Amino acid sequence: MLVLKFGGTSVGSIENMTNVKNIIKGGERKVVVLSAMSGTTNALVDISECIKNIEVDDALIRIDTLYQVYLTTIDELLGDMTLRTEVEEYVETVFNVLKGTVNKLHTTLLHNTIVAQGELLSTFIFSRFLIQEGFKAALLPALDFMRVDRNNEPDNFYIKQNLNRLIDTVPEADVYITQGFISLDADGEIANLDRGGSDYTATIIGAVIKAKEVQIWTDIDGFHNNDPRYVENTTAISNLSFDEAAELAYFGAKILHPQTVMPVRAFDIPVRLKNTMSPESYGTLITNEIHGEGIKAIAAKDNITAIKIKSARMLLAHGFLKKVFEIFEKYETSIDMVTTSEIAVSLTIDNNTHLESIVSELEKFARVEIDDFMSIVCLVGNTIIYHPDTPHLFQVLQDVNVRMIAYGGSNNNISLLVNTSDKLETLQKLHRYVFETSSVLI
Ligand code: ADP
Ligand code: ASP
Ligand code: MG
Repeated sequence: MLVLKFGGTSVGSIENMTNVKNIIKGGERKVVVLSAMSGTTNALVDISECIKNIEVDDALIRIDTLYQVYLTTIDELLGDMTLRTEVEEYVETVFNVLKGTVNKLHTTLLHNTIVAQGELLSTFIFSRFLIQEGFKAALLPALDFMRVDRNNEPDNFYIKQNLNRLIDTVPEADVYITQGFISLDADGEIANLDRGGSDYTATIIGAVIKAKEVQIWTDIDGFHNNDPRYVENTTAISNLSFDEAAELAYFGAKILHPQTVMPVRAFDIPVRLKNTMSPESYGTLITNEIHGEGIKAIAAKDNITAIKIKSARMLLAHGFLKKVFEIFEKYETSIDMVTTSEIAVSLTIDNNTHLESIVSELEKFARVEIDDFMSIVCLVGNTIIYHPDTPHLFQVLQDVNVRMIAYGGSNNNISLLVNTSDKLETLQKLHRYVFETSSVLI
C-alpha cells in the first residue's frame, strides 16, 4: 500500500484536482490524505478569531463568502446530478454547523471544530469526484481513527486498530481518502496536528500500515536548498537523509511539517516529495541513506525568543544548568539553542506561552534578559562541521549581527540566531556564498 498526501494547492482548483485524479489512477492500492483547499484553513482561522472577538456579523459574512467558493467548485466539478446533490447537501450541513458557532462561547474545542471543517469539505467533495470518474473510492473519517495521547504523540495502537478495521469494512476500494491535519485528542475531543499537519497525518498512517512509501505532493518540485519565498535561484535536492530532513523541517522549511519524518524513520519507509503540477519532475527522496557531503540546504525559523540568564555564581556552581532546565521542563517549553559562558547561559525558545512564569522563576536566582523577534537560520548537511571551508561562512556574515551560534551540537547542523529583520540578508548572503559563489561547500 502507498500513502499519498496532497496539499492545499493540489486540491485548490478544478485543474489541480484533475491532476490529482490522474496521479492516483491505477497501480497499487493507496491511502490518499488531503488537506483543505488552499485558503480555507486561513479563512476558518479568521472566522474563529471573529467569533472570539464577538464580531458576529463579520464572522457570518466570511462564512458566506467561503460558502460561495464551495458552491462554485461543486458546480464546476460535478456533472453527475446525484453526486452533485449529495455533495451540495453535505456542504450545506457543514456551513450550517459553521453558522451555528457564531454565537457560541469561544473555546479551544470550538476553534478546533471550526478549523476541522476544511479537511472534511475537501475530502467529501474529492471522494465523490473520484466516484464520478469511475474510481472505487472510499472515504475514511480521520476522526474515527486518528488520535493523539496526553503527550501529544500519535496513539499508534489505537490508530492502527481503528484504521485497519475501517479499511476492512470496504475491501473492494482501491483508493481510501482521508482527512489530513485533524485528529482526536486524548479525551476524544476534536483536535489537530497543528498548521501544516497533513504531512504528519500521512507519515503516521504510513507507519501504522507499513506503507511501501509515503508521497507528499505539493506545489513545488521537491525540497529546495533554501526558502524559495525569500531567496532566488533555489534548486531542488534529489536526496536527503531522514536526519537532514528532520532538522530542516524543524528549523522552518515550510514544505514539511516539523514532525513529518519521525513516524516513518524507524521503519525506514521512504518519503518522496513531488510536484502535483509537474509529476514528471524527480522531486526529493528522503531515506536512511546519506548522499554527499557539505551543506545541503538552509532554512529559517521565526518567532524565536532569546533568554539570557546571568548569575555571578555560575562559576563552579554545578547544578546551575539543571536548575535552569528544570524550569523549562516544568512549563513544557522546549529549548532550541543553548550557549554558555562562565557567568551566563543564553537559550532560545519558540513558544512564549509560559514565558512570564519561566522568567519569574528564573529571577529567583539569576538576572534575566529577553530578546524577541529573533530567527534561527540553520545550515544542514552531512558532516558540515568538519568541512574545512565552513569557518568562511562567518566572513560572509561579517556585517550581520549574529547573536548566537550553535556549532557541533550535531555533525550535520550549524544554527545561527539573528534578528528577524536580518533574516533575509542572512539567507541571501549564505545562499550566494554556499550555492553560487563557492562550490567548495557543496
Ligand atoms: P502544501 O499546501 O502542499 O502542504 P506548503 O505551502 O505547506 O504546501 O509547502 C510548500 C511551500 O513551502 C512551497 O510552495 C514553498 O514556498 C515553501 N517552502 C519553504 N521552504 C522550502 C524549501 N526548502 N523547499 C521547498 N519549498 C519550501
Ligand atoms: N489545512 C491545514 C493547514 O492549512 C493542514 C495542512 O494543510 O497540512 O494548516
Ligand atoms: Mg504544508
